[in-house]
Amino acid sequence: MTCLACDVGAGRVRPPGGTIYEDEYWQLAHSVSPVQLRGWLVLVSKRHVLDVGALTADEAAALGPIAASGAAALQSAVGAERVYVCSLGREPHLHVHFHFVPRHAGMPDAPLDVFAAMWSNQSPWACGDEEAAAVAETVRRAWP
Ligand SMILES: [Zn+2]
Repeated sequence: MTCLACDVGAGRVRPPGGTIYEDEYWQLAHSVSPVQLRGWLVLVSKRHVLDVGALTADEAAALGPIAASGAAALQSAVGAERVYVCSLGREPHLHVHFHFVPRHAGMPDAPLDVFAAMWSNQSPWACGDEEAAAVAETVRRAWP
């Protein structure tokens, strides 16, 4: 079974705009979904580990500062009202990753309605790879 997070980490799948942030344990980039919510970033662990509870102490310690910096940079870069950060391990072989989801102005207040917009090509906040790459560069420049 292939793991998309491993494919991104190994460079077999290149997110639009390339890597935004990378260290020994984590890599942050724009999402690679065919339907893009503008500014939807994904942080993947470099190690193939299925559950957040199985992270090493070093992986977990590195996670907090990246979450704070990534959320701040994203909020600044796209002018988001809020940035949601979550981990949803649905597929059996897809390893630990965190979604950074901007709530753009005019989006519904309910977070679950924002998540519905992530996979909708009818959403006014959808974008293609070119715009996603531009957002990635803006987030890179806004990194605190
Ligand atoms: Zn993996």
